[in-house]
Amino acid sequence: LLADVSHELRTPLSILGGKLEAMLDDVIQPTPDLVASMHDEVLLLSRLVQDLQTLSVAEAGRLEMHFSQTDLTELSSRVVSSFKNMADSRNILLQLQIDKDIPTLFADPDRISQILRNLLSNAIRYVTSGGKVVVKISSSDGNVVFEVSDNGPGIPNDEIPNIFERFYRLEHSRSRATGGSGLGLAIAKQLVEAHKGKIWVESEVGKGSRFCFTIPIKS
Ligand code: ADP
Repeated sequence: LLADVSHELRTPLSILGGKLEAMLDDVIQPTPDLVASMHDEVLLLSRLVQDLQTLSVAEAGRLEMHFSQTDLTELSSRVVSSFKNMADSRNILLQLQIDKDIPTLFADPDRISQILRNLLSNAIRYVTSGGKVVVKISSSDGNVVFEVSDNGPGIPNDEIPNIFERFYRLEHSRSRATGGSGLGLAIAKQLVEAHKGKIWVESEVGKGSRFCFTIPIKS
């Protein structure tokens, strides 16, 4: 893990260091665009550090959970709305389909939101402009079933067992360029398991992916 972390930190730090040095040497000027790109690198670093902290606490089984009866219609509407601007800016159709009779779920609402956010941000980042992302929530066999589907590039079958591992990426440059820390799915898996649920993906290259997770309904 330390080798992975130092590798992940090296790129944004060397980009930032290079730009600052060039400014100090008067080779380049601090234009608004340049400062904005440096700010992006800092945001990426902050996200990486925050994700690492969540993951290390979760993997050590020390995640603090705050369970309560959670209204999934309200929670999912809020999460999906928060991605509307991002989807609109990429001309992506974003839909929420939630069963009318969905029961309240005894769960940690912040953690369920985070799982949905991680899956949604991936779907919107990896789908090409003009694509479609659908969030579907239903219940079956004592579980609530969450699905996030996209018509993006899909994931090859032999890669599927790896993508929930930390820092595993199919296309490193694309993941980084779109702001990915490489930890989103590893964190989602930990948070689902902290609810005694299951997470998996069904995918076909060239057609798209459907990430699913189930959380048991407890009364
Ligand atoms: P990242 O920050 O790189 O997105 P994740 O852990 O969230 O890290 O995802 C791991 C890898 O799984 C991604 O780099 C990407 O290659 C692949 N992936 C995740 N979601 C999708 C998706 N919806 N469509 C295609 N590939 C995906």
